[in-house]
Amino acid sequence: MKLTVLTDNNTYIDRYFLGEPAFSCFLETGGRRVLLDTGYSDVFLKNAGKLGLPAADSDFVVLSHGHNDHTGGLRPLMAAMGDRRSALVAHPAVFESKFDGGEPVGSPVTAEELSERFDLRLSAEPVWLTERLVFLGEIPELAEPRMPVGTLSDGSPDRCLDDSALAYRGENGVYIVTGCSHSGICNIAEYAKQVTGQRRVAGILGGFHLLERDRRSRRALEYLEREAVGELWPCHCTGFRVRAEMARTMDIGEVGVGLELEWK
Ligand SMILES: [Zn+2]
Ligand SMILES: [Zn+2]
Repeated sequence: MKLTVLTDNNTYIDRYFLGEPAFSCFLETGGRRVLLDTGYSDVFLKNAGKLGLPAADSDFVVLSHGHNDHTGGLRPLMAAMGDRRSALVAHPAVFESKFDGGEPVGSPVTAEELSERFDLRLSAEPVWLTERLVFLGEIPELAEPRMPVGTLSDGSPDRCLDDSALAYRGENGVYIVTGCSHSGICNIAEYAKQVTGQRRVAGILGGFHLLERDRRSRRALEYLEREAVGELWPCHCTGFRVRAEMARTMDIGEVGVGLELEWK
């Protein structure tokens, strides 16, 4: 599977892509093109154009969750798709209204509007996109409690049940691509092993949602070290101090727009 990062908070020196505090990446595997998340704006399309990648011509658009730093590019994507129809895969709760500090932070596009361009496949169960690539659906609490982020429209804490990830059954274990990991990076890793029937996590790329060096992040780092994850590419919502802490005991890669990985 080939993976290319289209949007991240970070851009590499001497490579003139656009960055924004958001996430999007493009996957090619088994003859299929998969766009995971759309960032906050049309930045992912601009970067994809420069990279020569047909991001608007994907077989599947997958949303890791509903927050607008992952769904904000949906409208520009629909404009770039022309008459094309794609499948859109996400958790059924992905279009719920979400708020943070009173500000709306959910998807700017409704399911009704999207259904004009997409065949919506909203599922809390895993959805296999190819023989080896699976959308995990709702992540169970297997290793740590969920952490609510913001509120839903009734004012209750948003437990981000819509937060999911992609897992790829590789030759040496499971590879995981995650958006923000609101479900907990340890829960996602455990569930990815279960769903793909793998014993080892070969690699993880994405936002780990570990912003500060606190008890939660310390436990997550202990877990990742114990699991001896092959490749670690923490980005987006992984804080600088947490990454620095990780780098003391684990070999981590620096993610930026244009990063290309080949996973077997
Ligand atoms: Zn989020
Ligand atoms: Zn995010």
